[in-house]
Amino acid sequence: MQLYKRLKTLTANHVKSDRQADAKVPDDLWQKCPKCGTTILTKQLDEYATCPHCHYGFRISARQRLQWLVDEFQEQDTDLQTRDPLHFPGYPAKIKQAQAKTGLNDSVWTGRARIKDQQLALGIMDPTFIMGSLGTVTGEKITRLFERATKDGLPVVLCTASGGARMQEGISSLMQMAKISNAVAQHAAAGFLYLVVLTDPTTGGVTASFAMQGDITLAEPHALVGFAGRRVIEQTIHQKIPADLQDAENLEKHGFVDRIVQRQDEKELIYQLLQYGGGHHD
Ligand SMILES: [Zn+2]
Repeated sequence: MQLYKRLKTLTANHVKSDRQADAKVPDDLWQKCPKCGTTILTKQLDEYATCPHCHYGFRISARQRLQWLVDEFQEQDTDLQTRDPLHFPGYPAKIKQAQAKTGLNDSVWTGRARIKDQQLALGIMDPTFIMGSLGTVTGEKITRLFERATKDGLPVVLCTASGGARMQEGISSLMQMAKISNAVAQHAAAGFLYLVVLTDPTTGGVTASFAMQGDITLAEPHALVGFAGRRVIEQTIHQKIPADLQDAENLEKHGFVDRIVQRQDEKELIYQLLQYGGGHHD
């Protein structure tokens, strides 16, 4: 009985100290893979931030992606600033906060880049900048990226990540879809290659325009790619949709994606594809 009592006390203390320890644990010590449920020690995630079990690529900032994607990068159009066309409440503060967090002027990073001896025009959308939403500055930067690439005879590589058009800019945001599509068409008519890398998540107006206009479409494992969200689709068609409907793997199966590529292979594969597709060399 005495022993039992002691054990009970020990157990209770143990639990208590564990709880205290838990309270001090920062939230980001562990990460749960949203695709397969594996719990991963954040420290164990390498620079690619992928799940060791299912190869899903965690959502990363444009800055993190740039570290392993290319050998050299020269940023362009850093001076463009949104004007808050609709005077949307709280929007200027939201932009400022996102700018401070990411170091970008809007949700895409654009510039001229190099992989080995291959020159390219590169755009990386940042899912951490107001959900990678497509605003007027995002649209203008991507349009200029294509226009410059057409003039300089360069292929374009664009890594997409977006929650869709930015509601705070209303119709001006939607118009970017047509504007960018026109620049993509001119780039294609001049005979240059456009390569898209769909990353998690690519949705809404971005999927409905330039994310689906590439000559070659790559996607990262288990990236969510779709137009409307699952709930909206189910409410509209009054049916449950399959769990994997908007998975990159399902899109590949149905011909919307040419190939699924893991992050650690991305740079080499893009380099090889650009070699086949021509364009500038050093
Ligand atoms: Zn996983």
